[in-house]
Amino acid sequence: MSKNLKIIFLGAPGSGKGTVAEKLIKDYDIVHLSTGAIFREELTNNGLLSEKINSYLEKGELVPDEITNELVMNKINNIHDNRSIILDGYPRNVDQAKFLDTFFKVDYAIYLKISDEVVIKRIAGRMTCPTCNKIYNEHFKAPKESGICDIDKSLLVKRSDDNPETIKNRLKTYYDSTFPLIDFYKNKNCLVELDSGIESDEVIKNIKKLISF
Ligand code: AMP
Repeated sequence: MSKNLKIIFLGAPGSGKGTVAEKLIKDYDIVHLSTGAIFREELTNNGLLSEKINSYLEKGELVPDEITNELVMNKINNIHDNRSIILDGYPRNVDQAKFLDTFFKVDYAIYLKISDEVVIKRIAGRMTCPTCNKIYNEHFKAPKESGICDIDKSLLVKRSDDNPETIKNRLKTYYDSTFPLIDFYKNKNCLVELDSGIESDEVIKNIKKLISF
C-alpha cells in the first residue's frame, strides 16, 4: 500500500531517475510522471506541439515553462488524490519549482548524485525498449541478445538526444538551471541525497530504507 506520497527525483541526465522510478512502481502503487517521456511521446505521436518541443530536445535545452508547467499540472490534476506520485525530470528550474509549490506539496526531493564521467558513459550506452520502457546499457547492463529487449523481444531504441553533442548541452542546462533546486529543497527540509553511481537495485534499497511507501 502506498501513502499518498509526493516525491520528486532530481539529478543530472543519466543519474538513473527513470530507471529507479520504473523499478519502484513495480513494487508500489505509485504514478510515475516523466516530463521527458511525455515530450518524447508527443514527438512519436506527431502531436500539435511536436515541432516546437523537438527544437528544444535536440539542442538539449529546456522546453519553455509555459508549455511544461501546464502539461504537468493537467497530468497531476488527472491523478486521484490519494495516489503517490513520483515526478521524474520536473521541476527542472526554480520557476517550475515555485509553480509546482502552488498545488503540490513535495514530501521528498530525492537527489540522485553522480559524477559527470559516469553520466557521459551511461548516456552514451543507453538503449530503451519502446514497448515496456526497460532501460539497458551496452556497457553496464547489456540485453542478453544485442539490441533486443529481454522481456518482450522489441527492438531497442536509442534516444535521439543521447548523442555526445546534446549530452554536453544537457549537462550544461542541468548545472545552470536544475542544480539550484538542490538548495531550494534543502531549505524546505525535504532533500534526500543518495549516491547514484552504484547499481540501481542498491539505490532502490537505500530509498526504501529512508522512505516507507
Ligand atoms: P529527460 O528524459 O528527463 O532527460 O528529458 C529529456 C528532455 O526533455 C530534456 O533535455 C528537455 O529538453 C526536456 N524536458 C524534460 N523535462 C523538462 C522540464 N521539466 N522542463 C523543460 N524541459 C524538460
